[in-house]
Amino acid sequence: MTKDGSYDVIVVGKGNAALCAALAARDAGARVGVLEAASAEESGGNSRFAGGVMRFAFHNLEELRRVIDITDQEAADADWGTNTTEEFFDDLFRLTHYKTDPDLSETLVTKSLDVMAWLRSKGVKFVANYGRQSAVVNGRRRFFGRMPVEVSGGGWGLVEFLDKAAAAAGIDIHYATRAKGLILDGDRVLGVRASQHGKAVEFHAKSVVLACGGFEANAEMRTRSLRPGWELAKVRGTRFNQGDGIQMALGIGAGSHGNWSGAHATGWDLNAPAYGDLNVGDQFQKHSYIFGLLINAQGKRFVDEGYDFHSFTYAKYGGEVLKQPGQFAWQVFDSKTTKLLRSEYRIKMMTKVSANTLEELAQKLEGVDPKAFLETVHAYNDAVRKDIAFDHTIKDGKCTEGIEPPKSNWAQTLDTPPFDAYATTCGITFTFGGLRIDPATGQVRDVMGTCIDGLYCAGEMVGGLFYFNYPSGTGLVSGAVFGRMAGHHAGCAAMS
Ligand SMILES: Cc1cc2nc3c(=O)[nH]c(=O)nc-3n(C[C@H](O)[C@H](O)[C@H](O)COP(=O)(O)OP(=O)(O)OC[C@H]3O[C@@H](n4cnc5c(N)ncnc54)[C@H](O)[C@@H]3O)c2cc1C
Repeated sequence: MTKDGSYDVIVVGKGNAALCAALAARDAGARVGVLEAASAEESGGNSRFAGGVMRFAFHNLEELRRVIDITDQEAADADWGTNTTEEFFDDLFRLTHYKTDPDLSETLVTKSLDVMAWLRSKGVKFVANYGRQSAVVNGRRRFFGRMPVEVSGGGWGLVEFLDKAAAAAGIDIHYATRAKGLILDGDRVLGVRASQHGKAVEFHAKSVVLACGGFEANAEMRTRSLRPGWELAKVRGTRFNQGDGIQMALGIGAGSHGNWSGAHATGWDLNAPAYGDLNVGDQFQKHSYIFGLLINAQGKRFVDEGYDFHSFTYAKYGGEVLKQPGQFAWQVFDSKTTKLLRSEYRIKMMTKVSANTLEELAQKLEGVDPKAFLETVHAYNDAVRKDIAFDHTIKDGKCTEGIEPPKSNWAQTLDTPPFDAYATTCGITFTFGGLRIDPATGQVRDVMGTCIDGLYCAGEMVGGLFYFNYPSGTGLVSGAVFGRMAGHHAGCAAMS
């Protein structure tokens, strides 16, 4: 920072996208200041809450080895799978009903491997995703869901690695500094007005990168944009993503883009706090519903639990839970599937009941019509195809016949005690609508499509990538791809 408080580049936010932008701008030779609304203890945004799995394109082991160390023995002992650019595109297009912006998704997919190697070069340590998406099948480990890599230490670890890199690069971080407006000279952005410990301050810069999240933590904006009812959702992550950056940019004429009535939302413990708890991280989520039944207050099922791997349904099923009476659903399992449940089913803070008979369980499912629940389970059990083998590592086609909604995979009868049930509600992760950017530079475009001088954006704030749904592990990679790109171009523009 110069004596008059100016920088070459100001980055707003200090999550994954912002830190990637700051590092890339610094690499371009810029003096960089980061403004973070939260205190140091609460900083890091949703990135710090993230589980840390990351989806990127790789075609073979050699490419995977650009990201993680794999010994020859480990290579031989496992089927690591692939996530080819075609597979990544297919997932993104299929899940978004072919609405994803083709230029943005092209950038995301084709730059995803490079950005992982770049993060590694910045000190981020990646490890094999053994715990969440792999299993030993016939003596050989198999990774499934096209996502064999996670950050060591999850999202918390990621932010810690990037914080270290930012400190080593000499990037200034201003905590408890909430950006409130953009400083303009004509149509050119020349800095940020902020509130710092209750005092109004100004930061001047040649370029500004907004990477301060969506509006998921703002109940009023959520309800207005998504639909009535969304004010009742719990927030899975940070309370600081109030839509400030989006509002500031729209206020100076930035263009909006994407699925403004859409959001990433999952099943989340019914009694979790209103906002995320960094000590629990992502563990209030309950992602193993694919092996059980989802039951609403009327005792009925309401989605195809086994439509696909959770990676491809979890981000939209939270919204389905929100639509149910009372905004809750019980996830019900029998003992055949207990060993398959993810680690989040073994934490202390859970809303869980157990029973030795279905009749006893029916009485324990608070808020549920017990008679209707039993009818649902008996009809489901009768509908399960008994002639197809169960295999949790593939879409096994073990389905139901003759009931609505169907269960398309992993449909086993619910008949082996003890029975466990977990109460969930909707937890919102992030909002899909955001700003329109130039997909090659990250520069924000105005409502007419013209790039706004001096203004860039990255991360959750970018609109146009996700519609209706989302493939797991894409948020962090998208933040890194667009953060690095915006930071680089903001830095180069500032230094030219
Ligand atoms: C529980 C949970 C689990 C997840 N798991 C995964 C996962 O495993 N893999 C994956 O890819 N994605 C995951 N995600 C999604 C992922 O975390 C987000 O997509 C990603 O972190 C968004 O990064 P970002 O940098 O855009 O925003 P954030 O990380 O949210 O950062 C935004 C920052 O801006 C700051 N800020 C907000 N307003 C202002 C302001 N006015 N002035 C200054 N600063 C401001 C915030 O304090 C915050 O630090 C998960 C999310 C959650 C909540």
